[in-house]
Amino acid sequence: MISLEQITKTYGSGEAATHVLHPLDLRIGQGEFVAIMGPSGSGKSTLLNILGALDVPSGGRYRFEGTDLGRLTHEQRALFRRYVLGFVFQGFNLLKRTSALENVEMPLIYQGVSARERRERAEEALVQVGLAERMHHDPSQLSGGQQQRVAIARAIVTQPQVLIADEPTGNLDTQRSHEIMELIRGFNAKGITVIMVTHEEEIADYASRTILLRDGRIERDTDHAA
Ligand code: ADP
Ligand code: ADP
Repeated sequence: MISLEQITKTYGSGEAATHVLHPLDLRIGQGEFVAIMGPSGSGKSTLLNILGALDVPSGGRYRFEGTDLGRLTHEQRALFRRYVLGFVFQGFNLLKRTSALENVEMPLIYQGVSARERRERAEEALVQVGLAERMHHDPSQLSGGQQQRVAIARAIVTQPQVLIADEPTGNLDTQRSHEIMELIRGFNAKGITVIMVTHEEEIADYASRTILLRDGRIERDTDHAA
């Protein structure tokens, strides 16, 4: 599904160049649940941002189901993000003074889905994350765990093929973290490929594969399912 070949990322040039990712090869199959771990500064966010088409590599090739993302225009990459990927971030990134339901409808607005279908699908997504009773609350009236549930509903309402999660439990206590991971595991079980950055071992344990980065290189790639 995903193939990175000899991907590099370098900031700056000449003497001041910082090589954040060294030629890196990585293949991820449909339905996998991958955790990316590694020390701070090892390149986790950079790699995740490249996988999420939020950032472009300095070199190498990123193919998604055979399509070379490097050949897409800026607009085509935006469409790829919008239709194929879903994103969950540590900081939830919900719109303030906007109900949970409206937050979840937002990506469907960008897809041009009709108001009626949007409402139905957003409600269904909120039911799936256990927030049926909180649809009309705005983020300030929700706990951190509930806000992350809204963010997950917003990420999956478009039925993405891949869920990209950057420290999805970073702002949550232990119990809330496990609840969120159970939810993410459930979506993975339904077929969504999950790629997640975390620095917590217990959180990475939900994945079926762990990639350990060090200094921009894959130091270890462990398949737990095997
Ligand atoms: P991690 O997520 O593992 O903490 P990052 O991918 O955020 O690592 O960063 C890896 C390295 O790249 C760090 O040394 C960071 O300082 C550097 N870096 C990240 N973004 C930039 C940037 N925009 N300009 C220069 N250096 C950057
Ligand atoms: P951190 O790396 O401190 O954990 P986040 O998890 O919030 O920060 O974000 C990770 C990366 O994704 C950052 O490079 C950030 O710029 C980017 N990002 C965060 N939110 C969004 C968003 N809503 N849309 C696009 N990019 C985002």
